[in-house]
Amino acid sequence: PLPVVAIIGQPNVGKSTLFNRIINERVAIVEDKPGVTRDRNYARASWMGHQFSIIDTGGITWENSTIDEEIRAQAEIAIEEADVIVMIADASKGVTDLDERIARLLYRSKKPVLLGINKADNPEQRADIYDFYSLGLGEPIPVSGAHGTGLGDLLDKVVENF
Ligand code: GDP
Ligand code: MG
Repeated sequence: PLPVVAIIGQPNVGKSTLFNRIINERVAIVEDKPGVTRDRNYARASWMGHQFSIIDTGGITWENSTIDEEIRAQAEIAIEEADVIVMIADASKGVTDLDERIARLLYRSKKPVLLGINKADNPEQRADIYDFYSLGLGEPIPVSGAHGTGLGDLLDKVVENF
């Protein structure tokens, strides 16, 4: 079986945008309103000759659940199914309460967790990512789903953990 990579993070940080970039298709729906049922959240991808499956856990939604319940369920999926977990946060928002809650859930797992800071679209925003060290998940890796920058560095670290 292929190694499994799970993308997790609070709504609107750009998980689906990054997922689409990584798989080179537009199958995940990019939008900021939670609660829409989406069906293509699993896909195959490859990087540097490594094949893997990738899950956009944020695209899996449960009816009538609060954001906290969703995050918890998404973390459960990531922790159970993934070989490598990629948490995404938003450089333009800084560290939020939800980021901290997600990080705490992931911290308890024995899985390798990488931290991608999305929307680091320009050098100024890339310099703002150091606050994210406070999440305790190691080095924050700046990426831009909009421009595709930084994604290679993030994927290099992902496949190192297979
Ligand atoms: P998700 O809820 O985490 O899956 O986030 P989406 O991928 O749906 O993106 C949420 C919003 O952020 C959309 O309006 C995207 O166009 C925008 N977005 C995604 N990546 C970037 C980025 O790197 N830079 C900027 N400025 N906006 C982005
Ligand atoms: Mg999404």
